[in-house]
Amino acid sequence: MIKKGDLVMVVKPTLCCDRPERMGFVFEAQGIHDGIIECLLCGEEREGVSVVLENDTGFPIECLMKIDPPATGETTKDATTARTSDDRP
Ligand SMILES: [Zn+2]
Repeated sequence: MIKKGDLVMVVKPTLCCDRPERMGFVFEAQGIHDGIIECLLCGEEREGVSVVLENDTGFPIECLMKIDPPATGETTKDATTARTSDDRP
């Protein structure tokens, strides 16, 4: 289930105009809009549940896939901090 703040990607062409050019587009959901929303590409007003991109534009929720945020590497790699190998001739 997509909710505000989720990172989502457009995985299907828009339903109204079937344009694929936004596929692969990733954005952060600004909210969920249940009602009429304007298509970003053709401007057609469409009713349904959409994920808001900004203001009153967004994508139909059916066209989107939630992206799980990549695991934030809190575990600092064991970068060899010990640089004591000072092998000067
Ligand atoms: Zn459209």
